[in-house]
Amino acid sequence: MSYARVRCVGLVGVTGHVLQVEADLAPGLPTVAITGLPDTALHEARDRVRAAVVNSGRAWPNRRITINLLPATLPKHGSSLDLAIAVAVLGSAGQLPLAPLDQVVLLGELGLDGTVRPVRGALPMVAAAARAGHHRVVVPLDNATEAGMIPSIQVHPVRSLRQLAAFLTDGIPLPQPPQATPADPTPTLDLADIAGQSLGRRALEIAAAGGHHLALFGPPGAGKTMLAERLPSVLPELPDDAAMEVTSLHSIAGLMPSGGQLIRRPPFQAPHHTATVSALVGGGSGLARPGAVSLAHRGVLLLDEAPEFDRRALDALRQPLEHGRVRLARSRGTAEYPARVQLVLAANPCPCAKPAGDISCDCTPLARRRYLGRLSGPLLDRVDIQVTVRPVRAAELMQVSAGGEPSTVVAARVAAARAAALDRWSRLGQRSNAELPGPVLRRPPWCLPGPDLRELRARLDRGSLSARGFDRVLRLAWTIADLDGRQRPDAEDVREAIGLRTGEAL
Ligand SMILES: [Zn+2]
Repeated sequence: MSYARVRCVGLVGVTGHVLQVEADLAPGLPTVAITGLPDTALHEARDRVRAAVVNSGRAWPNRRITINLLPATLPKHGSSLDLAIAVAVLGSAGQLPLAPLDQVVLLGELGLDGTVRPVRGALPMVAAAARAGHHRVVVPLDNATEAGMIPSIQVHPVRSLRQLAAFLTDGIPLPQPPQATPADPTPTLDLADIAGQSLGRRALEIAAAGGHHLALFGPPGAGKTMLAERLPSVLPELPDDAAMEVTSLHSIAGLMPSGGQLIRRPPFQAPHHTATVSALVGGGSGLARPGAVSLAHRGVLLLDEAPEFDRRALDALRQPLEHGRVRLARSRGTAEYPARVQLVLAANPCPCAKPAGDISCDCTPLARRRYLGRLSGPLLDRVDIQVTVRPVRAAELMQVSAGGEPSTVVAARVAAARAAALDRWSRLGQRSNAELPGPVLRRPPWCLPGPDLRELRARLDRGSLSARGFDRVLRLAWTIADLDGRQRPDAEDVREAIGLRTGEAL
């Protein structure tokens, strides 16, 4: 026998595809050729796999070895194919009987000493194996809990190539997968912790209900970050498909939460303002790492001290905000990850970041305008709600000493408002008010009666509001009406929406 074939999985974006690794031995000078669209990391696999095989007490065949990855059209990344390659080579040399691996999918990176190392993306890979009808998968021990999240597949964890070889040749059973122990739920931040801040809370609730992006301006200590961190606590839990997608992205980033549970709460990411472009949108060699904008998929991306971010980093966010996906240029083609986020921008009113009313601030009006101007244009243009929050005053603090309204109460109103919007727009193929194309709201049957729009039209004519801003006010007005359980916005809703859009709300 000088030919063998085993199965493994490759990832394209967040989706796994079952691949086959073929190995063929032929007489001739000892060489190894890998064919079938492999990336550079896979070319390095040659040396890694050879060392692992030898250090596992097996002989490396001194023949002309051809390793072929099928289907050739799918790009293959990274080191998760190492174990399959080693087993295929040993199988083709007749050193390992492969019958027990019929219909089994193998995942794992090999260390030079033959240990099987964990791989990134094990969850979507095992999910793909299950989808393709496989019932068993061999995974690195450290990925076993993650692999066990796919209920329909039997997981065989391995520690080393030697251990897998002993199973195949001598029938020594592989260890049982560890029992998943649910991790203690991470305490979620609650709106009840926030005193006062009626405008900030109102803005947060409307943003959550309509899926609107939000900008919070205000001096340090005004509670911008505290508010933003609590946005996920009023968003609905993720449905199954979204939870799987979000958890898969964390798996690919190598950031799986412990405990073997799907991520059900909308994620929250707050990259530091020194974050690089690749930390924000993703990148890296081999299997591309999802960036903050993908780790926040279906959740909240907070850019705290937003004007301090590098211009290129802010520019790099435009495409994902527009399309809900990130495209990363790779040496072979592109990688795509989902990135549908709710954006929260937080900013101090001026570059010196002194507290409100601090007389030592000597920033000129021009410096202040220039500072916030860094956000303007494409980014701030997409943000429906722009409000200025102020530090809580003692009187407010005393008044609400019983605590603010808790997140669960707000979340119930948000859920009802979202359901109303979904019910209205689903036949237009839209899910939330924030996604709605502007023309829909300007034409029958959804346009509002003339008197209700008087102030809005006047602002457009005066030029104090752009056409885009006009549409954004309408979207906000619908969300406000939804939160109040009314069929249509009225003049008062439009007025509140104008205040939230223009930053005039107090
Ligand atoms: Zn200043």
